[in-house]
Amino acid sequence: MDIIERISSMLETNGTGLYGGEAVTQTQHALQCAALAEADGASTPLITAALLHDVGHVLDPEFEAALEHGRDLVHEDIGESFLNDWFGEEVTQPVKLHVAAKRYLCAVDSGYFAKLSEASVLTLKLQGGPMSGVETAEFEANPHHRDAVRLRVWDDLAKDPDAETPDIVHFMAYAARCLKTGAQA
Ligand code: FE
Repeated sequence: MDIIERISSMLETNGTGLYGGEAVTQTQHALQCAALAEADGASTPLITAALLHDVGHVLDPEFEAALEHGRDLVHEDIGESFLNDWFGEEVTQPVKLHVAAKRYLCAVDSGYFAKLSEASVLTLKLQGGPMSGVETAEFEANPHHRDAVRLRVWDDLAKDPDAETPDIVHFMAYAARCLKTGAQA
């Protein structure tokens, strides 16, 4: 099975659980996030990042249980190290930074925190709360930080139980187009 098929079937089979206390499944959340990126005119790697930003959740079945016990399994790092074998930084960095982007937005945008869902406020605490001034400057020094912030905004919106989206095959075509050379196996 090639990596595109592997990720597709992972999203299909492991993505049926609810997305951390929200009214959508992991798969619906991934598809909605990618659809918002596509509608916003994002690049192919960024649409791919939007689709796969929570792949760390579906890779680790313990994720939800750990969250219930107040532990953060750092799914953004699990996701990044998995994707690293197959995709370049335009995909992996926004995935890695999408949680930091939430902490960043809480620090720089006073209206942002007010819009977070209840589940997202709970995880913010576990993730370290809003960024300090030093952390904010460090974050802005990362060349992928703007993409991470865009991804974060779609991520926060991708929680609509009634949204209609194209399917996994449609979005995995973007992923296939940004595989690293030699990473087809
Ligand atoms: Fe997400």
